[in-house]
Parts: sequence; C-alpha cells; structure tokens
Amino acid sequence: MTIRMPFDGPFRVASPFGYRTDPITGAEHSWHGGVDLVSEDRNVRAACGGVVLRSRWAPDLGDGDRTWEWGNYVSVAGDDGFVIYYCHLATRTVEAGQRVGAGQVLGIEGTTGRSTGIHLHFEVRDYNAQQTDPCAYLGIPNEAGFVWTPEPEREPWEEQAQDWSREAVDWCVRRGILQGRGGDDYALGEPVTREELCVMLWRAREVL
Ligand SMILES: [Zn+2]
Repeated sequence: MTIRMPFDGPFRVASPFGYRTDPITGAEHSWHGGVDLVSEDRNVRAACGGVVLRSRWAPDLGDGDRTWEWGNYVSVAGDDGFVIYYCHLATRTVEAGQRVGAGQVLGIEGTTGRSTGIHLHFEVRDYNAQQTDPCAYLGIPNEAGFVWTPEPEREPWEEQAQDWSREAVDWCVRRGILQGRGGDDYALGEPVTREELCVMLWRAREVL
C-alpha cells in the first residue's frame, strides 16, 4: 500500500508509533497505536483515497470505550482494505459515506479528545484491523523529532533542463565519454567538477 503525506507542508514527528511514556500520566511502556504529527499549515489531507467510515465527535460515555480519546475524528477506508484514522481534529470537513480522493482536506489539525497540544494522531489499521507502523507507509523514520519537508516544486524550464541533461548524459555514456559512471548511478543535477568536465570534453573531442 502506498500513501501520501497527510499534510502538504512540513511536519514533525512528535511521538512515534509503539511503546512510549504516556504524555499525560507519565506511565512508561504505554502503547501508542499511531504516530503523532505536528504540521505548519494544519490542513489534514487524506493519505489515500477511499470512503469516509466515520466523521464524528466522540464523547466520553463513561462505559470504558476509549474512542472519546480521539475527540473529533475521521476514519477513511482505503480501497485495499486499510482504514486510516485522523484524530484530535479541530474541525471536520467531510461526512461519513463520502468518497474522498488522496490529498483532499478532511479537517483541521487540533487538540480535541485526550491530547496535550495541537497535533494529528495518524493511525493505520490493516485488513485484520491490526495497528501498523504508519511511518513505514509514509517512508519516514518512526522517530520523535524527525522533520519531513516537501520537495520544492520544479518550474517547467527546470523539467526541460532535466530532460536535456538526461539526454546528454545518455549520449555521453553510450560513447564512453562518461566512463566510470554508469547512466544509472549518475545522479542528474549532481555538480560536475571542472576537472571532470575537461576530461569529458577531451574524450568528446575524439568522438565528434
Ligand atoms: Zn497519538
């Protein structure tokens, strides 16, 4: 299963998935079924497309059901049987039964329910309803303090320059001008030193 980030902008891992010290009671070895993320822009987005299962405020009914801890939350069932929970929201912008696309805003990050500050409790349950490490799907370390920053958007001319650069590298590789570095391990955009450039031009001179 591949999912996208639940935020467009940068965010920080405030508390990892798994056993941790409870932030409210201080109890050690307390289970945390999701990962806590703190963003800058606060727009919580669907990490994958699917159908909204629940979009509600969970009150404490005093019956031992701990769903109230999530406060305002949205759960989305993905097409592959996974269910993703977005909890402690300040506001919700989708309704149960609604189909959402990946990246669609589901609500605003908040601190409702059992929470000590504005953050998103992000939880991924697999098709056996098992809580799994969300960071594994996001491709980030399950580590408090890790900061994710989006890649800057590229301008169209940068895309064009990349294409030309790739073609030039392919051409050089085919003719043995770029020896010692295969096309695959040559990272486009990697700076070439003056010496490397001189060697390439010297070799190209013999080919042209
Ligand atoms: Zn949490």
